[in-house]
Amino acid sequence: MTYTIADPCVGVKDAACVDVCPVDCIYTTADDKQFFINPDECIDCAACEPVCPVVAIFPADQVPAKWQSFTPLNKTYFDGKDLNDLKEKTRTAPRKINEAH
Ligand code: SF4
Ligand code: SF4
Repeated sequence: MTYTIADPCVGVKDAACVDVCPVDCIYTTADDKQFFINPDECIDCAACEPVCPVVAIFPADQVPAKWQSFTPLNKTYFDGKDLNDLKEKTRTAPRKINEAH
């Protein structure tokens, strides 16, 4: 099992989830509209779920029907990507101000 980041993250990207993930498996780049959880690294700890200000994070088997395509999207996002390169891009990607607060 893994967790999925769905549509509410789009345009928010405040990285609150990144700060609490114990295995650093949440990624983005400056060009992406949202963050993605790498299902191969996620340990299913649930730490990220409650800190998301816009309720974008769900256990993969509990994603609302309208956003279920985001689970395969969180997986295919990593296809062919170099994780070390992606970690650097995640670290340097601008963190948007969360306007939902
Ligand atoms: S469930 Fe835990 S390991 Fe998986 S992305 Fe969230 S914080 Fe990271
Ligand atoms: S905490 Fe929620 S809105 Fe913020 S980056 Fe993570 S998934 Fe996106």
